[in-house]
Amino acid sequence: MSMTLEELGALASTCTLCRLAAGRTQVVFGVGSPSADVMFIGEGPGYHEDKQGEPFVGAAGQLLTRLLGEVGLRREDVYIANVVKCRPPGNRDPLPDEIDSCRPYLVGQLELVRPRVVVTLGNFATRMILERQVSISRVRGQRFELDGRTVVPTFHPAAILRGGGEASAQMAAIRSDFAAVRAILAEPPPVPAAVEEQLGLF
Ligand code: SF4
Repeated sequence: MSMTLEELGALASTCTLCRLAAGRTQVVFGVGSPSADVMFIGEGPGYHEDKQGEPFVGAAGQLLTRLLGEVGLRREDVYIANVVKCRPPGNRDPLPDEIDSCRPYLVGQLELVRPRVVVTLGNFATRMILERQVSISRVRGQRFELDGRTVVPTFHPAAILRGGGEASAQMAAIRSDFAAVRAILAEPPPVPAAVEEQLGLF
């Protein structure tokens, strides 16, 4: 991609490609390190995110920040984005055509940040990245190697808050998935194919 992350964000900020433009306060593009090793992808902005212009700042965001801290990561070390960049009215689920319209922004973010690990939070992000109609409760706990990245699907923090909270099985699962992310980040980065060829590893 020939533009920078900042330029892509500026382009998104005036986007009217789908009906979600009509009800937003502002576009919530993404936040964090532009060269992060790990990118977290949620569903879409909620009330607080729409007001503040930053993803994951409400109650679910506070839980995400806490879970990051538990594995020694700070928000500024990672990159955080959503499948759709504008708040769906009443926090309804994003519709398929809205997800399709917004897809180029997320694809661009992935190309520009180039994370080694992508953590998909909930069904919408997981289905979009894996390009399969999977259920998060079936695929979480697994790793997927895709386009040179490791994809780690896990529950959306909002689902934990709606469910059993701290003592729930979902909370234990998300903790285990975040620990897995930390472990992947501690592994040496894979050798690019071109280098493998030069070293005669093929
Ligand atoms: S949700 Fe995405 S595609 Fe739709 S208006 Fe907002 S930025 Fe554009």
